[in-house]
Amino acid sequence: MSNTYTVVNPATEQAVVEVEMADLAATDAAIERAAEAFPGWRDVAPGEKARLLRRFAQLVDEHVEELAELEVRNSGHTWGNATWEAGNVRDVLNYYSAAPERLTGHQIPVAGGIDVTFHEPLGVVGIIVPWNFPMPIAGWGFAPALAAGNTVVLKPAELTPLTAIRLGELGLEAGLPEGVFTVIPGKGSVVGERFVTHPAVRKVCFTGSTQVGKKIMAGCADQVKRVTLELGGKSANIVFADADLAKAAASAPSAVFDNAGQDCCARSRILVERSAYDEFVSLLEPAVRGIKVLDPSDRTSEMGPLISAGQQATVKGFVDEVDVAFAGSAPEGAGYWFAPTVVLADDPQQRIWREEVFGPVVAVMPFDDEAQAVQLANDTEFGLSGSIFTRDVGRALRVSRAVESGALSVNSHSSVRYWTPFGGFKQSGIGRELGPDAPHSFTDVKNVFISND
Ligand code: NDP
Repeated sequence: MSNTYTVVNPATEQAVVEVEMADLAATDAAIERAAEAFPGWRDVAPGEKARLLRRFAQLVDEHVEELAELEVRNSGHTWGNATWEAGNVRDVLNYYSAAPERLTGHQIPVAGGIDVTFHEPLGVVGIIVPWNFPMPIAGWGFAPALAAGNTVVLKPAELTPLTAIRLGELGLEAGLPEGVFTVIPGKGSVVGERFVTHPAVRKVCFTGSTQVGKKIMAGCADQVKRVTLELGGKSANIVFADADLAKAAASAPSAVFDNAGQDCCARSRILVERSAYDEFVSLLEPAVRGIKVLDPSDRTSEMGPLISAGQQATVKGFVDEVDVAFAGSAPEGAGYWFAPTVVLADDPQQRIWREEVFGPVVAVMPFDDEAQAVQLANDTEFGLSGSIFTRDVGRALRVSRAVESGALSVNSHSSVRYWTPFGGFKQSGIGRELGPDAPHSFTDVKNVFISND
């Protein structure tokens, strides 16, 4: 470790703590330790791997409040979100603790012997985590990767390293051997890029911007390195006139303003059937104005600040280009605050309609029929998430099959359950996280024929 930097509370702009930042030599040393630890971890008996992952989960459970408090101060997350996020890491570890004993291959009928397949772990997996959901996104990578027998080096975002550092300590305390799970705080341009170029790293899992994701994919091509990308989104919330409008309008704000809109699954475009448009907008307004935007150290806060002054300026840049229909309130003074903001859009070419804002801003637009709703929803380079509100089952089925998106929900805004697969279509990413198959994505299939001669 070569130098330190200051982690800041985005709600107050006050320093929280100094963190040591890895340089290239420290990154290489951590990767090499992970490579040395790999054969030992791969060969740990499945039942023992399962026991260690369950112990890790138990320790996370015992530290949910501590982890949540760190996240509130480091990332500006509300208490409700932060406790959910820490609990999610526990649940994901428990879920994948079953995997080491269930990663079975096939026995395939052949003449002259037997043929069997094995799911072989890859080796060292490099996980690059963004600042918007530091705990869950880390867990979605390291839990299935470890369960499949890989060792892991994990780089948290420079802005939000604190919970990842603590999770690394809890992993060691749980009994994971040295080098099996290492957290390396540092810059993306140093630590992250080294995961891409170091030959001992056999897979990179990246969540973040589409721009950096493309660079990582191109870099991984050089060594035909495995890669999973979970990138941006511009998801649509499609509300048909036959829907329960009160339910759709009441839940729409949380679907986009949760985590201050810094959510790749944010439904930042709301499409409403024209005959219901005025009623929907009039229901949406009080729901938006009622959001309690407060310092998350107040546990009644429903929305916290943006992560940084840079993110605040980016979001302001989008809003300055358009007319705001209505907005909620936000604290004045220190902190990277932005009020929940609603724009009534009429041009699908507007930047606010096309680009990921990653802030508490939603654009609402009317549509005339089902075909136009699908066309507008799909008129984007992204395809991560989305919702459809209707009471017509046939339409729900037709539209959910027609929308080009990896995770859709009908009459609901839920996006992610750890036991179901998650990932994007188009430029929202490649590969899937979570669900029963995630450990397989950290293995290569080996086929072995054994002659009976
Ligand atoms: P980035 O894509 O730059 O950062 C995400 C992670 O990648 C961070 O850990 C970052 O490290 C790391 N990183 C940055 N550059 C490289 C690189 N060259 N090689 C390897 N790793 C790298 O996102 P930003 O923080 O700049 O956010 C910009 C926009 O990206 C947001 O406004 C939003 O639209 C989108 N975004 C989407 C996310 C999602 O969940 N899909 C998450 C975060 C952002 P470092 O610590 O140095 O920043």
